[in-house]
Amino acid sequence: MPSDKNIAILRRLERQLVDVQHNLQMINAELPGSADSPALINSNPTLTSSDVTVIKTHMLRRSLLLKSAIKRLHTGTFGQCCVCGDSLSSNHLLADPATPTCLDCQNEVYL
Ligand SMILES: [Zn+2]
Repeated sequence: MPSDKNIAILRRLERQLVDVQHNLQMINAELPGSADSPALINSNPTLTSSDVTVIKTHMLRRSLLLKSAIKRLHTGTFGQCCVCGDSLSSNHLLADPATPTCLDCQNEVYL
């Protein structure tokens, strides 16, 4: 069970997860099993089907990050870098509580 300090973070992560999953369901419901989403593209004429694929991929990744952070809150490892184990800075967690890595490890992944 998360500490009282982390309950607010847990609620924030759970709300974000609900929003992301709802948006994914909306996109998938438009045309199940396809990367094309005509209604989304029709309502946003500058979007292409590959844009929709990028959006869906981003949402799926975000969903996984949120689920992982919620699991870490329940197991007591929240706030630790998933790569090196160091403590994450409070500013980093405040900016995105779902972040799985410290800035050093994050930079190594993207460099
Ligand atoms: Zn790290």
